[in-house]
Amino acid sequence: MATAHNVVIIGAGHNGLVTAFYLAKAGLKPLVLERRPVAGGAAVTDEFYPGFKCSTLAHAAGPIAPAIVRDMQLERHGLEIIRPEVRVFAPSPDGPGGGALLLYDNAAKSAESIARFSKKDAAKFPEFQQTLARIAAVLSRVMAETPPSIDEPRAGDLWRLLRTGKDLRGLGQKDMYRLLRWGPMAVADLVSEWFETELLRATIAARGIFGAFLGPWSAGSSALLLTRAAADPHPAGSAWFAKGGMGAFTQAMAAAAVAAGARIRTDAAVSQIAVNDGRVAGVVLASGEEIAAPTVISGVDPRRTFLRLIDAVHLAPDFLGRVQNYRSMGTVAKVNLALDALPSFVAPGFSPAQDAVLKGGATALAGRIHIGPEIDYLERAFDDAKYGNFSQQPVLDITIPSGTDQSLAPPGKHVMSIYVQFAPYKLKSGDWNSQREALGDTVVRTLGAYAPDLPGLILHRQVITPLDLEETYGLTGGHIFHGELSLDQLFTMRPLLGWARYRTPIEGLYLCGSGAHPGNGLTGLSGANAAREILKDWRKAGHG
Ligand SMILES: Cc1cc2nc3c(=O)[nH]c(=O)nc-3n(C[C@H](O)[C@H](O)[C@H](O)COP(=O)(O)OP(=O)(O)OC[C@H]3O[C@@H](n4cnc5c(N)ncnc54)[C@H](O)[C@@H]3O)c2cc1C
Repeated sequence: MATAHNVVIIGAGHNGLVTAFYLAKAGLKPLVLERRPVAGGAAVTDEFYPGFKCSTLAHAAGPIAPAIVRDMQLERHGLEIIRPEVRVFAPSPDGPGGGALLLYDNAAKSAESIARFSKKDAAKFPEFQQTLARIAAVLSRVMAETPPSIDEPRAGDLWRLLRTGKDLRGLGQKDMYRLLRWGPMAVADLVSEWFETELLRATIAARGIFGAFLGPWSAGSSALLLTRAAADPHPAGSAWFAKGGMGAFTQAMAAAAVAAGARIRTDAAVSQIAVNDGRVAGVVLASGEEIAAPTVISGVDPRRTFLRLIDAVHLAPDFLGRVQNYRSMGTVAKVNLALDALPSFVAPGFSPAQDAVLKGGATALAGRIHIGPEIDYLERAFDDAKYGNFSQQPVLDITIPSGTDQSLAPPGKHVMSIYVQFAPYKLKSGDWNSQREALGDTVVRTLGAYAPDLPGLILHRQVITPLDLEETYGLTGGHIFHGELSLDQLFTMRPLLGWARYRTPIEGLYLCGSGAHPGNGLTGLSGANAAREILKDWRKAGHG
């Protein structure tokens, strides 16, 4: 095997690029191998219809950890971050409680919108936002650290545990108990302890089921809310976009990694990780090309890494059995629309002034749009998936990025990016290729109840099923986070208990993708944490 690189990274997803950057900055020579024609993984922008560009998959960043944005100097590498004042616009149909909720960056402005539904909730919202922010601050430090070793805790692990303990105590008794109690709770219970407005409850609870095989009544859904809040503590979630779509984030990351000394090869699918006597030896590409390297880092999900890329003879049966049990069954689909004009959302109860803002689109529709007005709606949408069907009334998380970024569509036209949950990877009847258009029709029909002119404005529709997520984008089981972010697959258990520190049973082989801690979306933290551990081993081995 020929070698010019001391490190090979499999996959140019955002985490692989972050790892490549930190390793190159430390003087290593990483070679990133990406099977697709472009770098970016699940964070890419495509022209899906002539003149119309859209974030093909993820449409809002987690957000990327600010330290990573700074270290990689992403703005110097062309990134323009867009952070609208409105985080979420949540319309709800007619009837008691009907109307539309606007949650802003600013808690007092959100409270004004909430007051239309309930004065009590309006008074409590700022307190909830602040409480979540305090708790999330502790968790965000945990996310940026390597989970402690369970078998052989070292001095560093104990020190970090002590520091976390101190952080927890610093929260004060009330918040500390909240954190301990909230973790295993159903998010439906958590939001109903704070609020009486169904639309507000459902908008916040949606974060607890995002990307997961969970309904709001599932135990552990609050843990997912907390995990997501660790990246952005706003109750409604992040509204971080990039000019040019999510691909602009990863293009800037790729440029930063290359500037630091990494090399990226696209159209270079790895078909095998070569192992010699329990030690990694390099990789073999689908073309047959062999590349030797003493260190191989997989930014690909754990199931694909261990079950498809490594010959089973190199792994212990017990380990393989545990990887087989690692849950990675996706429930998300994506629909992207090219639109002739901005749709008008019907928002009963809106004042004429608010209505004008909405129609103008510039403000109200600049963040994310949440469709899922009640807790029961979210749970029913999950019920369909539980029994192997896609939701007949799915939960939708929508952006219209062309409203704030005119580079994405011709003048006066728009693109709409629709994240669809629940669409289970395994259908009870039929297959995804035959159900693709039925899913697209269901999404458009669902949305038509909120924006009646939408169906007539569609120039083109792109439907991406969970099977496409697997086959085209390499997400095993179509799982958007490389595996469930459930209580038993988090922190010291991500991906497996005993293997949460980026190392694997094969010496010299590491994990750096979302299947490794913390793995919660587009934050870059799995990649940054992995780089830190790899550099420790590299230095320990006397390389510098
Ligand atoms: C539809 C959808 C919507 C989402 N929405 C959001 C959101 O709004 N907010 C958020 O924070 N997160 C969101 N996510 C999740 C987020 O995008 C992912 O968790 C994140 O991008 C994963 O990054 P990664 O680098 O770990 O892996 P990936 O982005 O999956 O990158 C892995 C890379 O490895 C490549 N690869 C696979 N196999 C091989 C091989 N054999 N050889 C070489 N290369 C290989 C793949 O092509 C890919 O480029 C969404 C994801 C999806 C799919």
